[in-house]
Amino acid sequence: MQTLLPKEIINGPNFIGGKWVEGLAGSISVLSPYNNQQIGQVSIPSLEQIDLAIQVASTAQVTWGKTPAKERAKVLFNLRTILLREMDSIAHLKSAECGKTFAEAKAGLMKGIEVLEFALSIQNLDLGGKVEVSRGVTCEYKREPLGVVANITPFNFPAMVPMWTIPIALALGNSYIWKPSDKTPLTAIKIANALKEAGLPDGVFTVLHGGETTVNAIIDHPLVKAIGFVGSTKIAKIVYQRGTHLGKRVLALGGAKNHIILLPDANPELSGVGISDSFTGCAGQRCMAASVLLAVGNVEAHIEKIIARASSLKLGEDMGALITKEQKQFLVAAIERAEKSGAKILLDGRKTPAPVGSMAGLTTGLSAGNWLGPTVLDVVQTGTEAATNELFGPILSIIRCKDISEALRIENSIPYGNACSVFTSNGALADRVINEASTGMVGVNVGVPVPREPFSFGGINASKFGQGDITGHQSLDLWSNTKKITTKWELQSDSNWMS
Ligand code: NAD
Repeated sequence: MQTLLPKEIINGPNFIGGKWVEGLAGSISVLSPYNNQQIGQVSIPSLEQIDLAIQVASTAQVTWGKTPAKERAKVLFNLRTILLREMDSIAHLKSAECGKTFAEAKAGLMKGIEVLEFALSIQNLDLGGKVEVSRGVTCEYKREPLGVVANITPFNFPAMVPMWTIPIALALGNSYIWKPSDKTPLTAIKIANALKEAGLPDGVFTVLHGGETTVNAIIDHPLVKAIGFVGSTKIAKIVYQRGTHLGKRVLALGGAKNHIILLPDANPELSGVGISDSFTGCAGQRCMAASVLLAVGNVEAHIEKIIARASSLKLGEDMGALITKEQKQFLVAAIERAEKSGAKILLDGRKTPAPVGSMAGLTTGLSAGNWLGPTVLDVVQTGTEAATNELFGPILSIIRCKDISEALRIENSIPYGNACSVFTSNGALADRVINEASTGMVGVNVGVPVPREPFSFGGINASKFGQGDITGHQSLDLWSNTKKITTKWELQSDSNWMS
C-alpha cells in the first residue's frame, strides 16, 4: 500500500482573491474511501461570499484578459514545473480523498499536465487570421476571452478533469471559478497554491466549495458567462438547462455506459489486458470504463484471459476503493439483482479480500474501506439493470451476441454515448464499428479510448449536453468568442455596395 493518509485533518477554505477564506455557510467533511475516516473538511461560502468572489474575479480578469497570450502561457509554464515538482504530494492527497491507487493518481495528474502542455502553445493555436477578401478590404477574426467562466467537477478525477479546463480557459484570458466535487475537494488546495506560486494574478483563479446551492449561485451570477460541468447525466442536464435558460454557454458532460465489442479474431493478449484494465482501472469509476462486453460468437479463450488478469488484482495495491460506503452497498445489491435476473457470476468481487493493516496515526484500519473486487457477470440479458444502467464500479456485464449486427444494435439502443471499443484483427469490421457506434469516442483494440491532445474529448447523446468538446482544439470555442473585423482604409474604384 503506497498511499498514506494525512495525519491531521486538512482544512480547506475557499480561494478568493488569491487568499484562503473560511466559508460562512457551514462545512463538509471529507472521508477517505480507504477507511471511511475523516481526513479533511471544507467550508461552504455564503451567497454574499460567492457574489464577492465572482466580482473580484471579474475585476481581475480585465487585466489578465489584456495580458499578451504569450505572457499568460509563461504563468502556465511555471504551473507545469510546480505540478511536476509536487507530483507525489498531490498524488498522495488525491488517492487519500478519492480512493485511487498512487499510480492512478499520478497518471491522472500527468494526463492533466498534457492538457496544460497543449494550452502552453496557445499562441500557435487558432487565435485568429486575416485575409484580403476584395481589393483593399480585409476580414479578420480574433479570439477574445469571455470574462468570468466557471467549472463544476466530479469526484472521480480530482485533478485531471479540472485540468481539462483550467489551463485552456486561463490561457485564453478568462478568470476561472472552480467548484470541486464535495466528495473530493482537497486536491483543489494544492492546485490553487500551485497557480499562486506560478504567478497567476490574485482573483483570476477562485475555488468555491459546496453542492447544489453553491453551483446554482455560480450559474445564476450575471458575471459568469460560461459554465463547464462534468458529472452524472442527471445533474449535467439540470446544470445545462439552468445555464442555457439564462442564455449562457454551457457544456455539460454526463455519465456513460460504455460497450466493448469482442470478436473471435481479436488478439487474445491485447483484448485480455485492454478489457480487464478498462473495467477495473480506477475501480471502474471513470466515464470511459468498459461496462458491457458484447461477446460475439466463440470468444471463450479471450474471456478466460480477461478473468485471469482481473482476478490477479489485489485491492489496495492494484485497485483502489469505491468513493463511499453507500456506493459499495449499491453495487453489492446490483450484483445480487443481476444474479436474480439470470446473470451467471464468473468472477465475484464481493469475495475479493480487503487490504489489511492500518495507517500511520489512524485508528481505523483499511478493512473498513469501500472495497469491491473485479466482478464479471455472464449471460446478462438486455434491458436489465446490469445491461443498461451506469453502475460506476468494477463490474463487467457480458451480453452474448450471435453477430456484430446484433452487438451494434445493442450498443445503439443505450441512451449514453461516450465510448465504444472493438477488439478485432479485421480492419473492415473495425471500420463498421467506427461508423456505426453511437458514441463520440471509439477505440480499436483500445479499452479506454480517451483522445490525447490535440484531439478533443467528448461524447454524444445523454453523455453530453451542449456543443463542442471539453479539451483539444474544440475547447477553444467554449472559452472564447471570435470577433470578426472587416477593414477598409481607402476608397477603391471597384468597390461595391458590400465592400
Ligand atoms: P455528480 O453529478 O453527483 O456531481 C458532479 C458535480 O455536481 C459535483 O461537483 C457535485 O458537487 C455537483 N452537484 C451534485 N448535485 C448537484 C445539484 N443538484 N445541482 C448542482 N450541482 C450538483 O457526479 P459524481 O458522482 O461526482 O461523478 C460521477 C459521475 O460523473 C458519473 O456519472 C460519471 O460517468 C460522470 N463523469 C463523466 C465524465 C465525462 O467526461 N463524461 C468524466 C468524469 C465523470
